[in-house]
Amino acid sequence: MPDVYNWQLGREMTYRLDPGAGQWQFAAVFNTNRCIACQTCTMACKSTWTFSEGQEDMWWNNVETKPYGGYPHHWDLKTLDLIEQANPGGQTWQAGSAGPDAPYGVYEGATIFEAAEQGRQQAVGYLPTDEEWAAPNLHEDAPHSTKPLSEGVALPEHRTWFFYLQRLCNHCAYPACLSACPRNAIYKREEDGIVLIDQRRCRGYRKCVEQCPYKKSLYRPNTRTSEKCIGCYPRIEGSDPLTEGLPMETRCMAVCPGQILLQGLVPVTETGDWVEDLDNPLYHLIRESQVALPLYPQFGTQPNIYYIPPRWVPRPYLVQMFGPGVDEAIAGYERPTRRTQAVLQLFRVSQKIIFKFDVIEGEKVSEVNVNGQPLEVFDDTVIGYGRDGEEIVRTTVIEAHFERPAQYLNSI
Ligand code: SF4
Ligand code: SF4
Repeated sequence: MPDVYNWQLGREMTYRLDPGAGQWQFAAVFNTNRCIACQTCTMACKSTWTFSEGQEDMWWNNVETKPYGGYPHHWDLKTLDLIEQANPGGQTWQAGSAGPDAPYGVYEGATIFEAAEQGRQQAVGYLPTDEEWAAPNLHEDAPHSTKPLSEGVALPEHRTWFFYLQRLCNHCAYPACLSACPRNAIYKREEDGIVLIDQRRCRGYRKCVEQCPYKKSLYRPNTRTSEKCIGCYPRIEGSDPLTEGLPMETRCMAVCPGQILLQGLVPVTETGDWVEDLDNPLYHLIRESQVALPLYPQFGTQPNIYYIPPRWVPRPYLVQMFGPGVDEAIAGYERPTRRTQAVLQLFRVSQKIIFKFDVIEGEKVSEVNVNGQPLEVFDDTVIGYGRDGEEIVRTTVIEAHFERPAQYLNSI
């Protein structure tokens, strides 16, 4: 078994397969502070890629309400529990040793691969019950209260809270679904890192369903095969005439009315590590400013969907979910640098994938108060460039607004 470097854990770990030579990695950032749980992404995915009988079981994309919601129910707590059973009390982070190759420090606990019984399984996992798969949006909008109403509370954490988590396959660097498959039916594409199931080879053994810690490989009973998000690969390849041959965002990203999503491709080395690319908007948000964090990095698959954490949620809950970088990520989002502020304007402004960005500095337009500290706001211009280096979008930090003339005001 090769040793691979997992930069999210800040250390090497053992993985069954050689990850192979890649060029680009499919990745995305979701801003949980802006999701309204409209499920437009869910339905866009479902209506584009899943068909006919059995479609009702396929939720390649879903949006769940945390902390109680989850699809399948309790998917994350159950996997955390399996790791804990194998390595009681050992799941700790050495956050103090953070550095460029270990941005969150070093994870000293067990991954799903390391918690597995050697020789018997590739990773710890479980098959959800039919009941757990039955209701994709159970506990929608159900809040959790952390303090009795009689006690006072101070922001930033809310006393009663929930938040929405949009989820799809993470197209992991070290996919547990892939290493679990006894038929070698699952593969990771070199050109974009998208993980696919070859439907002709799949025999429906469901080892991928069992060992994907995110439960994003789904069994379809009527075809007796497993299916999952395909990363809208024809769009990523640029085969849609709308973008004139340029890579195009996935359906779930392109339809989002909350404008919470920025999707793209990041350059990776032959060993799957990220190449420093300071002008790539995803590299900026994830590796440079670190305002976006991986979902349950401790599972060890090095997932490629990243989240700007919700500001109002108790930090211990977020640290369990996104790792020890939460405080810095929220601080960086609340008080962004001019470059981060500029990149945040690129969310959902183009269906063409933005490979590079540039900022033209503008005038200072205001000064606002954030957590008791002044924050200067500048009307900078941000430019996005496509794969061919041509400009595809240009926008400003200050959004245009129009005042309705008095004669058009609504009146009773
Ligand atoms: S379309 Fe956007 S806002 Fe609506 S649920 Fe999906 S991620 Fe959230
Ligand atoms: S999220 Fe699950 S299904 Fe997707 S690549 Fe990772 S392990 Fe495989």
